[in-house]
Amino acid sequence: MSGAGMGTPEMGGAGAAATDAGAAGTRVAGAEAADAGTMAARTSAIDPSLGGASVSHRPLGILAALPQELGDLLEAMRAEAGVRTITHGQRDYHLGTVHGAPCVVTLARVGKVAAAATVSALIHAFDVEAIVFTGVAGGVGAEVRVGDIVVADTLLQHDLDASPLFPRFEVPLLGVSHFSADAALAAQLAAACECFVAEEGAASAARFGTREPRVHRGLIISGDQFVASAAGVRALREALPNALAVEMEGAAIAQVCHEYGVPCAVVRTISDTADDHAPASFVSFLTEIAGTYSNAILTRFLQARISEG
Ligand code: SAH
Repeated sequence: MSGAGMGTPEMGGAGAAATDAGAAGTRVAGAEAADAGTMAARTSAIDPSLGGASVSHRPLGILAALPQELGDLLEAMRAEAGVRTITHGQRDYHLGTVHGAPCVVTLARVGKVAAAATVSALIHAFDVEAIVFTGVAGGVGAEVRVGDIVVADTLLQHDLDASPLFPRFEVPLLGVSHFSADAALAAQLAAACECFVAEEGAASAARFGTREPRVHRGLIISGDQFVASAAGVRALREALPNALAVEMEGAAIAQVCHEYGVPCAVVRTISDTADDHAPASFVSFLTEIAGTYSNAILTRFLQARISEG
């Protein structure tokens, strides 16, 4: 499965030569922005060596684990006003606008630590006003099938267990097990998903051989495991009967956002059902379908966000 996207130059951050911006581990590349100065003004950054000192609209941070999960978002940014790419802590952060909305787009890579580190940089180095995570997940809820979409209301780390010192799943010293997504952002994402399903659900089902997608809202669980066995998914259902989907990043992002008071939302398309078929189902869904869903959902979400002001 390692061929599904990791290890590539992330999303082809422009062919332009990188220049040393002076900050440790940081490079600024891709002077392909129509006007790099304007771009720096549109996007703000706490660290002036990263994004420019002037502040106007704080950008939205959009991230996924793997490039396929972003769909054509970067191409849309390039076509709109150009992209400025900043490499920081081994991640490429792409600054630009999509449908007029200032965004910083990046890949978290896989797992809770990778996701927490990336979202922390989005908050501290790029001063994002909110975070949206898009990607695929394994279906856990009985009604959740491949091709469905789950928008998180709450997120929990299913592999966190400091019992008997603390209750199972609770983050020690924080006293929280269920992290809430921002209600307004989650509602906007869910509305974008419903709109996609109403407009393109039947065509998408016919094209991909899935059932017509349904949108679910509720608990997404995260852990540093790709769950791929009937026994594994059964154990999760028994421990967490409300869980709708399992993945490897969302609750880590939600914890960091909780600790810094940054609104976040997570949307996941179901690539597999976390059982013995999961590896094959995941790879084919990621390769053939994930990008289409992401494009359809993010486009509607960003358009609505801009038109609502
Ligand atoms: N290097 C691999 C990594 C895939 S891990 C590759 O590129 O092929 C699976 C990714 O999809 C994670 O980011 C996780 O969040 C999500 N995911 C999808 N199905 C999952 C499942 N059944 N269990 C856990 N995570 C899953």
